[in-house]
Amino acid sequence: MLERAFGKVNLALDIVGRRGDGYHELKMLLQGIDFCDEVEILPARELQVTTDRPDVPDGPGNLAFKAVLLMSERSGRKPNVQVRITKRIFAAAGLAGGSADAAAVLRGLNRLWSLFWPAEKLEKLAAELGSDVPFCIRGGTVLATGRGEILEPLPDLDEHWLVLAKPRIEVSTAWAYRNYSAATVTERPKLAPLLAAVQANDRQALYAGMGNVLESVTCRTYKEIAAIKEEMVRAGAARSLMSGSGPTVFGLVDSQEKGEAVLAAVTNKFDVETVLTKTLRRNES
Ligand code: ATP
Repeated sequence: MLERAFGKVNLALDIVGRRGDGYHELKMLLQGIDFCDEVEILPARELQVTTDRPDVPDGPGNLAFKAVLLMSERSGRKPNVQVRITKRIFAAAGLAGGSADAAAVLRGLNRLWSLFWPAEKLEKLAAELGSDVPFCIRGGTVLATGRGEILEPLPDLDEHWLVLAKPRIEVSTAWAYRNYSAATVTERPKLAPLLAAVQANDRQALYAGMGNVLESVTCRTYKEIAAIKEEMVRAGAARSLMSGSGPTVFGLVDSQEKGEAVLAAVTNKFDVETVLTKTLRRNES
């Protein structure tokens, strides 16, 4: 059984408060993208999870492993499967790669074990694995609040092309949130106009409303993030932004040709992993 595990970008990430449990209270506009890992699930004698990348953990350190154990525990099935993950989504990048793999395991085992659990139930289980995992069950365009696990699906956007560029630097999510200070934010997403833009499928208003408050942390320390953003716009992107806690930067472009030009420009100037992709509709993932 093969499941595709699609990544996401944040069209918006705002921090609106601090919770008693130490997490930040978030408001995010999440968008599924056509850039995926492949997750193969096969019956086996015992649970085994492997990937094709040395920098992504095999076994219990992999979120997909925890996803199998959770499904096994709640369904009463033995966790006797082999999960083989072919990684394409850049790792530790702000694209929810690990979360997408875990969500793919929940969907895949739901089918393999003929459980017929509805997506809502899978999303609840997903929240036990991580904040971005519930979104990855169905993807699309979603307003995510709380830690990111409270989902309000929005109408699908018309297709957007986007270029992703991940500089070869490591940005820890915990570090980015720890160093966040509202006082240093220069650009906040404009959530209300942004949501209106999604409803109306208005591209210009969408570009204008986007924003990520964590750029105030990462761009200060990692100059290449800001530089890649600028280069994307110079090369023809209508808007560029960092996704999640980074370091991936994405640029929205109004055609595939422009996307190719932007991709060539950033590849020329920076040491980056890149891909040209497009937005996905809900349940296409
Ligand atoms: P998010 O956007 O949800 O914060 P991310 O894109 O920043 O995620 P991931 O690719 O999910 O980051 O990886 C974060 C860490 O999780 C990595 O350092 C890696 O060691 C670990 N990890 C566990 N399982 C996986 C997996 N299946 N794929 C990638 N990383 C995984």
